Amino acid sequence: MKIGIRLVLMSCCTPCSAGAIKQLHDGEFPEVDDFVVLFYNPNIFPETEYQKRLAEQIKYCESLGTKYAVGDYNHKEWLAAVNGLGNEPERGARCSECFKHRFKFAQNWAIQNGYNTIASVFGVSKHKDQNQVDACAISEIQKLTYLPAKWDNSLKQKINQESNFYRQNYCGCEFSFRKV
Ligand code: SF4
Repeated sequence: MKIGIRLVLMSCCTPCSAGAIKQLHDGEFPEVDDFVVLFYNPNIFPETEYQKRLAEQIKYCESLGTKYAVGDYNHKEWLAAVNGLGNEPERGARCSECFKHRFKFAQNWAIQNGYNTIASVFGVSKHKDQNQVDACAISEIQKLTYLPAKWDNSLKQKINQESNFYRQNYCGCEFSFRKV
């Protein structure tokens, strides 16, 4: 019997993930048997901002009846992972370490919870570099499959226009304040 895709979709926030979640929810990827949205973002600072993005993510997933999971919030550990890279520009070396840190967690979480494939929406923002995200995922996800999905940008924009999502004006970490 062929084993289908059991996908962990990593999400950074609702504005970026809404389109991808809707596509998966609507069955646009028939090879995906099951999926869960994983919110693991210890990069977000301060914690009050983290809680706002998390609350919005939960609200959206629950509105669709989509499964979700939440990783721990250990910002000190994340800071250690990007140590010395605070002055890097967005899309630079700090962001690579940030992506890898989160993909590493996702791989372990997926294995522990019976999923076999990982995808993300980390590259959908116009401020991000999809090639950088894909390269970080491929280097970190060695035990499972990485799905370099290209999400429907026009659907994402449409849902955002029709919704009133909480929307931040910086990527997430303290080093990205006023830089996006
Ligand atoms: S700018 Fe965004 S992707 Fe880059 S290190 Fe900060 S939180 Fe991570």
